[in-house]
Amino acid sequence: MATAPRAETSHDARTPRVVIIGGGFAGLAATRGLANQDVSVTIVDQHNYHTFLPLLYQVATAGLEPADIAYPVRTIFGHARNVTFRHGPVVAVDHERRAIRLEDNSEIEFDHLVLATGATAAYFAIPGASQYAMPLYSLADARHLRNRLLLELEAADVRKGEGSQLNFVVVGGGPTGVETSGALAELIRIVVLRDGLDFGAVKVRVILVDLAAELLTAFPQSARRYAKETLTGMGVEVQFGRSVVEVEQHAIRFADGERLETAAVIWAAGVTVKGTLADELGTATAANGRVVVASDLRVPGRPHVWAVGDAAAVRSGSAMCAQLAPVAIQSGHHCARQILHVLSGEPTTPFRYRDKGTMATIGRNAAVASLPGRIVIKGRLGWMAWLTLHLFYLIGFRNRLRVVINWTWRYFDWPSGPRLIVADAETVD
Ligand SMILES: Cc1cc2nc3c(=O)[nH]c(=O)nc-3n(C[C@H](O)[C@H](O)[C@H](O)COP(=O)(O)OP(=O)(O)OC[C@H]3O[C@@H](n4cnc5c(N)ncnc54)[C@H](O)[C@@H]3O)c2cc1C
Repeated sequence: MATAPRAETSHDARTPRVVIIGGGFAGLAATRGLANQDVSVTIVDQHNYHTFLPLLYQVATAGLEPADIAYPVRTIFGHARNVTFRHGPVVAVDHERRAIRLEDNSEIEFDHLVLATGATAAYFAIPGASQYAMPLYSLADARHLRNRLLLELEAADVRKGEGSQLNFVVVGGGPTGVETSGALAELIRIVVLRDGLDFGAVKVRVILVDLAAELLTAFPQSARRYAKETLTGMGVEVQFGRSVVEVEQHAIRFADGERLETAAVIWAAGVTVKGTLADELGTATAANGRVVVASDLRVPGRPHVWAVGDAAAVRSGSAMCAQLAPVAIQSGHHCARQILHVLSGEPTTPFRYRDKGTMATIGRNAAVASLPGRIVIKGRLGWMAWLTLHLFYLIGFRNRLRVVINWTWRYFDWPSGPRLIVADAETVD
């Protein structure tokens, strides 16, 4: 039997109520900007923690533990007098009544709504991809992938007498694909050296495929070349111009007719907003389903609704911003400031992105950083810059300390790492 929605009005009814959906980089930044101001803020997320997505691949490849890169949202805002956290998936927005509805049928009313629901993996309607390929977009994805990788490597040790192949195919040569395939190649080398796995006659391959003719296409040429050479040197087979037409449970098929048996297909081919809550708003969308926003980040025709981060088609001047963490953080901050402007009767200002560069790590002592002014830092220096930046943005002192200890330990004792298969129910099938 359907139950009537329970509407919740948070804090003092006279205080403007801001509801922020999403505790990712953008939602946290917006909440920070409104903390301890004269507004009542409710931040809602389907997880009770914030996930530091840029380090997911390290959890997936047994370099870090899930708890190292996640932090409870309640703990982050525990000291803010005007912030409340609500756990649960939001399923609908009622613009007329200015209320959001959660899966448990409860409602929260708002005066301003900030949509910061991020994006999800894009499968481009390729048959079998959403069913059999493994995305890397949540802690659950990372843990699932880690179990699969470690289970498959254990199984290869058992089958070492058989002359077969164990193929890990990474689809997508952007930063996530590059980072994951590099870390996977290192994991394989480590388990052989340190844990004594013996693959015997089984040939273990890490294959990185992309439709394009280069890796890291958003980076300058020298960074692309460096990434390709470094990965190849680490034993990753980089294949360009490969169009995936189907993913099966244990195989991948390409447009040229090749069908390759696989131990895992790791999906790093891109992201989309289609299929997320933002897609249900019924407002105009840009490429990949991103919600169209005005220059101040408000949704046109909905003066009380704002969209930020990956979910929004954020522009800086005439340029469309990429779906990156710094864009999410800066747009979240900007949105908070604009809401305060509106509440105090002041005009809003347009968003301007301050580009501080982008980075991708390839392996130990190997990363590329592309800085404003076409400056490229590669190798150990790039890697140190990458480590420092990621530590800086990681939430929570304890997490930073744990990651520093983990990374330092691994620097001097490289093969260490949490190579635990923590999933009794998962098997190689
Ligand atoms: C594997 C990976 C690696 C990356 N590496 C980098 C990198 O190195 N550098 C970089 O700059 N960027 C990187 N990015 C991109 C960067 O992480 C994103 O741009 C950034 O996370 C966007 O922030 P956001 O707050 O918009 O969305 P997200 O961080 O995705 O947060 C969205 C939040 O909304 C919540 N949510 C979604 N729907 C609902 C709902 N219906 N109800 C309740 N809650 C909901 C989610 O649980 C999530 O917490 C990476 C992304 C991935 C996936």
